[in-house]
Amino acid sequence: MERDEDPDWTSSVGRRLLDWYGREKRDLPWRADRDPYRILVSEMMLVQTTVAAVVPHFKRFLRLFPDFAALAAAEEEQVVKAWEGLGYYRRARQLHAAARMVVELHGGRMPDDPALARALPGVGRYLAGAILSQAFDRPEPILEANSQRVLARLLAWDGELSAAATQKRLWKAAERLVPATQAGDFNQGLMELGALICAPRSPRCLVCPLAALCEARRLGLQDELPRIAPRPAPLVVEEACAVVVRRGKILMIRRRSPGLWGGFWEFPTIHREGADPAGRSFGEPVDLAEGARRLTGVRIEVGDLVKTLTYGVTRHRVRFHAYRAVALSGDPRPAPGFSEARWVEPEALSELTLGSAARRLASAIQVAPADWGLSN
Ligand code: SF4
Repeated sequence: MERDEDPDWTSSVGRRLLDWYGREKRDLPWRADRDPYRILVSEMMLVQTTVAAVVPHFKRFLRLFPDFAALAAAEEEQVVKAWEGLGYYRRARQLHAAARMVVELHGGRMPDDPALARALPGVGRYLAGAILSQAFDRPEPILEANSQRVLARLLAWDGELSAAATQKRLWKAAERLVPATQAGDFNQGLMELGALICAPRSPRCLVCPLAALCEARRLGLQDELPRIAPRPAPLVVEEACAVVVRRGKILMIRRRSPGLWGGFWEFPTIHREGADPAGRSFGEPVDLAEGARRLTGVRIEVGDLVKTLTYGVTRHRVRFHAYRAVALSGDPRPAPGFSEARWVEPEALSELTLGSAARRLASAIQVAPADWGLSN
């Protein structure tokens, strides 16, 4: 018999975890009540983002869009703008689409049926389990980064973590462990234990409420499990952008919607080397001045390299080189794939919807405008 088939073992895990969670859980704003909307928003924000980074964004987002109806009534651009700083903008669009579906199909109330919940955009098995267990106390399992680490160690599961067989086994364990009542607290307890005690490195087994039940600890394997395949090296990308100045204003272009970056504003940017995750290549090598002309219709003279930023997109590591530049002639005219091109006051840059690199560059321009040929 496997450990998680033993009802004594599963009930001991449940009891100890619920006791510990009741004492030690962090006071987080989305735990204030069982509102499925707040849970959905927090879970969408927490994808690939730390709790500390999410808390202020969550509070601000809830002030702007307090419930499904308010979010559904908003324009997509407002939602993406409110998401700025969290990255993974696809999540913002999915959340917005999910709110519209909840309003249109379910009268503004989150469905408590797993199949209906999973039919919402961006809501997979994990998210449906998290919402249904926390909001409606349905005994639905969850599996995400923290809980899968805890479960793999509890069972001393030796398979590579992302392998299909491992995921199947750990989902089975989550199903067997989730209790008939207090499922939401149990699931949150698993995640909280992974976040606070059963950390990826140096798990704190001495203070773990599950230590006596943990197979990895008994075997002394807690530092080796779960097994994680080394990540492939990121693909390096080189991009260059021009901060084009004319009469104290900066030339900006806006990507056409729909599309991953649809609606976002950019400094005229070209791809130089490596893969092209943002689709910036012209299909032939062009220098920055020629690229900016093709993107905006404005002829420019490129000056010094002022700043290089680095950012990540999926498997890519992008080095983003920003040059100062001046406009020589021509009026802004967006290239195909862009909906607008115009001159923007430096102070107004922060009102635009910008990706992470463009936002960091906009801040650098506002802090030291003279570096870019703008007066203070
Ligand atoms: S005993 Fe150690 S390895 Fe096992 S669940 Fe607790 S912290 Fe993790």
